[in-house]
Amino acid sequence: MAGNPFLQRHIPRLGFVRRAVLRFMPGEDADSALRAVAQDQAAGISAVLTRLGENVTRTDEADEVEAQYLGLLDRIGAGGLDAEVSVKLTQFGLDLDPERALAHVRRIADRAATLNMTVWIDMEGSAYTETTIAFYERLKAHNANTGVCLQAYLHRTADDVRRLLPIGPSIRLVKGAYAEPSTIAYQTRSSVDANFATLSVTMLEAAKAGNTIRIALATHDVTLIERIAAHAAGIGLPKTAFEVQMLYGIRTDQQCRLARDGFIVRDLICYGAAWYPWYMRRLAERPANVLFVLRQLLP
Ligand SMILES: Cc1cc2nc3c(=O)[nH]c(=O)nc-3n(C[C@H](O)[C@H](O)[C@H](O)COP(=O)(O)OP(=O)(O)OC[C@H]3O[C@@H](n4cnc5c(N)ncnc54)[C@H](O)[C@@H]3O)c2cc1C
Repeated sequence: MAGNPFLQRHIPRLGFVRRAVLRFMPGEDADSALRAVAQDQAAGISAVLTRLGENVTRTDEADEVEAQYLGLLDRIGAGGLDAEVSVKLTQFGLDLDPERALAHVRRIADRAATLNMTVWIDMEGSAYTETTIAFYERLKAHNANTGVCLQAYLHRTADDVRRLLPIGPSIRLVKGAYAEPSTIAYQTRSSVDANFATLSVTMLEAAKAGNTIRIALATHDVTLIERIAAHAAGIGLPKTAFEVQMLYGIRTDQQCRLARDGFIVRDLICYGAAWYPWYMRRLAERPANVLFVLRQLLP
């Protein structure tokens, strides 16, 4: 459903779907997102902002996305807010002109550096994995304040972590949100979770051994986070050796608890009108959310 053009045109017009989306994003405009950042900050939680959208088809659309992000960074800076940004490379025309996409992200990272902020790169479907990692290697060489997302469901990710270690990476580890075949990806929840734990331990031990690495564990799986936190403590690392990132609206109670317990917590807040494919992936992760959407039909 996330990739179906007919549904993409029609589903977002349905009022009950629009109401349900507000569970996962504070609103379509930047003002709503920035208000949510301020609320998080009051609870000791930092933020990452993403303007939703993927796969632009014209380069002028990418110019517009860059302008939006630069404006957003200025507003974060002016408001003294504790927020970073996360971008999708296909939003900058990666398919149309990779060099131009790199120039867009460099300009955003340059502006973010003046505000002491990191720019994260989302990881998209497996057609983009190698391109995204190679892109990040080039970006990181000029822009130290950048990070990339890696997906624990891919068989290749252990090699990717080892490959990136020498450049002092910032890595946001996720389980992975796209439907990928068994030739390249673990298919069961237990195998993905096991790989997530193994990769986290690899990164923590690299940090312990003195490598420069910023580790973000981006999952709502609190049991998994606690297992990894116990390992980190067991090898003598402080709670601040890694941070926990979650999506806005999914486990707010756990975000507050982890922040109170002394962990660094970041809330990924999405905004923008192009929420359809992203929202379909959120429903696929948890079918119970479909019931939540249907309940919005009731008066
Ligand atoms: C900060 C952040 C950034 C991300 N960036 C990317 C990216 O760049 N590329 C990418 O492929 N994926 C990304 N993801 C999505 C990720 O790959 C998973 O699809 C998503 O996080 C769900 O998996 P989980 O780790 O929460 O674990 P799961 O095992 O799916 O869930 C663990 C528990 O969390 C709760 N939960 C999880 N999802 C939902 C939901 N949608 N609604 C309600 N409850 C839920 C449930 O209680 C569930 O039992 C990101 C996720 C986060 C948190």
